[in-house]
Amino acid sequence: MSNSESLRTKNLKEPKPESALKRVLKPIKGQLILASMLAMLGTILMFIPLGGIVYIAEAALGKISSEHVWPVFIGSVLSLFIGLILNTFAEYYIHAADNNLTHHLRLSTIKRLSLVPLGWFTNRASGDVKRAMQDDVGMLHDLTAHFFTTIARAFGVIVISAIYLFMMNWKLALVTFIPFIAFFMLYGKAFKAGGEFMDDFFVGMSKIDNAVVEFVGGIPVVKTFGSGEVHRGFRNAVDDFALAFLKLTSAVSKGVATANSIVSPLTVLGFILACGILFIELGWIVPFDVVPFVLVAPGICAPILMITFITHGLRNATGSAERLHSLMTTPLLTQPETLASQPENSELSFNRVSYGYNAGNKILNNVSLTLPEGSVTAVVGASGAGKSTLARLALRFFDPDSGNITLGGIDLKNYPSHELYQRVGFVLQEVRLVHASIKENIALGKKDATQEEIENAAKAANIHERVMTLPRGYDSVIGEDAQLSGGEEQRVSIARATLLNPPILVLDEATASVDAESEAIIQEALSRFAKGRTLLVIAHRLDTIMNADNIVVLEEGEIIESGKHEELLASSGRYAALWQLGGFQDLSESTASLNDKESAND
Ligand code: ADP
Repeated sequence: MSNSESLRTKNLKEPKPESALKRVLKPIKGQLILASMLAMLGTILMFIPLGGIVYIAEAALGKISSEHVWPVFIGSVLSLFIGLILNTFAEYYIHAADNNLTHHLRLSTIKRLSLVPLGWFTNRASGDVKRAMQDDVGMLHDLTAHFFTTIARAFGVIVISAIYLFMMNWKLALVTFIPFIAFFMLYGKAFKAGGEFMDDFFVGMSKIDNAVVEFVGGIPVVKTFGSGEVHRGFRNAVDDFALAFLKLTSAVSKGVATANSIVSPLTVLGFILACGILFIELGWIVPFDVVPFVLVAPGICAPILMITFITHGLRNATGSAERLHSLMTTPLLTQPETLASQPENSELSFNRVSYGYNAGNKILNNVSLTLPEGSVTAVVGASGAGKSTLARLALRFFDPDSGNITLGGIDLKNYPSHELYQRVGFVLQEVRLVHASIKENIALGKKDATQEEIENAAKAANIHERVMTLPRGYDSVIGEDAQLSGGEEQRVSIARATLLNPPILVLDEATASVDAESEAIIQEALSRFAKGRTLLVIAHRLDTIMNADNIVVLEEGEIIESGKHEELLASSGRYAALWQLGGFQDLSESTASLNDKESAND
């Protein structure tokens, strides 16, 4: 199944939001249930002293015999004490479970991500992963550590209060619950009224998120060229959100405010007293019968408000669980544990390879290309022709949709990744250094490298001298006491590749991203490194192109010409036309200008 197909199939099987949440919480499901039960039981036990107080008051007023006062008092104190212990234990237990879950989620997500195709990362901003690992895991903490136990406690209070009050006097108990029922009806109505604005509200919120990312990413442009588009986009998103928020709140707030005032303890107390007086006048109850209601009923207000308040967080937590779940179910790169047989040589071969990032949009079409051992193959073509995609496929950032790529006669899919990356090294334009020492960054692929090997690799990559000027030399940490320029980072990445000494090298030549002096130093290091290896180079430089054993001209994902420099010139094709444009340093630019010329002639 192709990459894009497997993604599509995955989307079809995407679980419903509820089940994403359930699946994420599954490892601690038992603990969640147990902790919630303990919290509920603890709350019920802590409620019992209220009944005890009513009993003792009745005895003090001589309404009942006082012989059980002491046992009731001791029972109430014990119940309060055990309730406190159970609640505290439930809190501790749920936080320990939450800690386990957080730990499990972070580790299993990272483990999963270390097995996904490298190409997966090219489609995503690192912000997405950060958001899942930090923000979403944090959001789930609110759910696991607080939501379930709080809901259980609130239900505990409501249920035990209802049972007690109905036992005391069912008629007064029935009317006591009228304000609470009215609250839910008004609340539901208010949110129904706001429902039509809810989608706009959430769309507005995600627009702000995107605009913030864009704004922060565009800060250098904003600072250099003034605000303009980036600023405008952000302002529009903020204005749209403010409008959506206003519409939502004006639709919801009146109803919610009325509902909230109905379940304030004072309103409930007033209502019970009024009903109590009426019942006394009707001769249904005696004045003392109102006491348990006055003591207990106002205590139901807080849990009711708490339930409505805390369920708001559920929607956010559900979104977090969905994002985490989709990260944890990212399709993996299938790879064997071991390499079944040794490759015959270091020949890299593309056999009728087609690939598209999205379904129906082919970027490479039926590309066949062989790079014999020790040869230099330069890929040239206009920007967007598919050169980098070809290089990424050779590095198994993703698998071809059709056709295959072999190394020494063995399909890349049959290499475990550590075996593959020992054989195929790469130096790409986008350099990734990790937050670790220079030494660790160089030895990333060879953990047991000696200091001497690391220094030799750094010398070969022309970065040794610069490292020696850093405060702690090779132990200086990237981003802390090692602030390197783009060109210097590139040289560290060359040292990293050099250390592995791979027989094949995939090279995306540096273009304008580094200054001329840096580029010369990088080129010198690369030429030394490339010597004697099978080289696939996305060529921008004249000398690489002229001296290559094979030049491949790529256009709209197809190889339209290939051969040596002289052969291609002699065949008077596309390459020759480009060459005749003369004096070019960057073939992509020449291709673009040739395209412009052709379209002007049309
Ligand atoms: P080149 O290296 O020749 O400039 P690329 O291989 O980078 O070309 O890109 C070829 C085409 O694939 C372009 O149209 C580009 O927009 C598209 N493309 C490149 N990377 C991605 C990606 N990660 N997701 C979707 N499309 C992509």
